[in-house]
Amino acid sequence: MKEFGYERVFDVSGALALAGADSGARYLGGGTNLVDLMKAGVERPTSLVDVRELPLDAIEAAEGGGLRIGATVTNSDLAAHPEVRRNYPALTQAVLAGASGQLRNMATVGGNLLQRTRCGYFTDVTKPCNKRVPGSGCPAIEGEHHNHAVLGASGHCVAIHPSDMGVALTAFDAVVSYETAEGPGELPLTEFYLPVGDTPHLETALPPGALITGVTLPPAPVAAFSRYRKVRERASYAFAIGSIAAALDVRDGVVRDVRLAFGAVASRPWRARAAEAVLTGASADAETFAAAADAELAAAEPLPHNGYKVALMRNLVVAVLTELAEEATR
Ligand SMILES: Cc1cc2nc3c(=O)[nH]c(=O)nc-3n(C[C@H](O)[C@H](O)[C@H](O)COP(=O)(O)OP(=O)(O)OC[C@H]3O[C@@H](n4cnc5c(N)ncnc54)[C@H](O)[C@@H]3O)c2cc1C
Ligand code: SF4
Repeated sequence: MKEFGYERVFDVSGALALAGADSGARYLGGGTNLVDLMKAGVERPTSLVDVRELPLDAIEAAEGGGLRIGATVTNSDLAAHPEVRRNYPALTQAVLAGASGQLRNMATVGGNLLQRTRCGYFTDVTKPCNKRVPGSGCPAIEGEHHNHAVLGASGHCVAIHPSDMGVALTAFDAVVSYETAEGPGELPLTEFYLPVGDTPHLETALPPGALITGVTLPPAPVAAFSRYRKVRERASYAFAIGSIAAALDVRDGVVRDVRLAFGAVASRPWRARAAEAVLTGASADAETFAAAADAELAAAEPLPHNGYKVALMRNLVVAVLTELAEEATR
């Protein structure tokens, strides 16, 4: 591992000043992804700005309703928060479906959103990879890609985003807040991650040096009737091969409101707006749910070894929406 500086900061302006003074600086949250990548030689920061002591570790009522979640709130504290469990249960379920208890105690909200892909070529510095070394190629397309993207990928990169938390936050229209030396900014999570295109190394719309300060969840009554379902290759401590965050409000057999996002199918948590359009105002039955899944997955472009994800996601949509619809009638 290459030598690097380390500094702990206690206020946002101090963090921005340190990051602004060193173009090779990186913010350190729980370190559960960044430090692993440094050991592998994938990340080579010249200094680390440890943000864990910043006063950004609260979960509070947001102005106008909803919740404001600080960037350094740990995954464990987020999952356990009573308001999150009551009003956004799919978010608690998504966080608890990720990693392990020890990792969730360390990992932060900001770090979770910015964790990097688990594509094996990306994490192996002996291999070419357009995301790590722009222009070097994408061996996954002809090689190992059974857990790669079926939606929104490009001929330059077919990696998926690994976050579970991000899928639930995307379904609930979360907005990311950040600070830069020039002032604060906000990005809806649906615009936070950039399309892959021919620049897979550019992953987010955050300005250079931006510090994520928090995430705001707008009020959404439908979110109280939500579920996260994750499919993985072993029962725990594994990344998703497909996942869904769904919220459904059904009255008199008709879908009044719905939120749907998919995980492990694209370079970003995938908001399923085509499916939502089919569902809204339609009869809440298995036929509609399947039609909604088909509308979303019509754009899928599977590779030779990940076509199973299309059927998997279709089944997940039908199963989870059916469960939510049944619960709504009890
Ligand atoms: C074995 C293992 C299994 C895992 N399984 C899952 C899983 O199933 N599902 C899942 O979702 N995740 C999983 N994870 C990933 C884990 O959730 C992430 O590593 C974690 O959320 C990252 O948070 P962190 O605070 O440790 O980030 P760090 O590692 O500290 O940072 C990650 C990135 O975010 C940047 N960053 C951190 N905070 C800020 C900030 N405030 N502003 C700007 N940039 C910032 C860092 O510079 C870095 O680039 C797993 C991890 C491991 C090691
Ligand atoms: S899929 Fe993306 S991350 Fe993986 S090898 Fe190709 S360019 Fe790299």
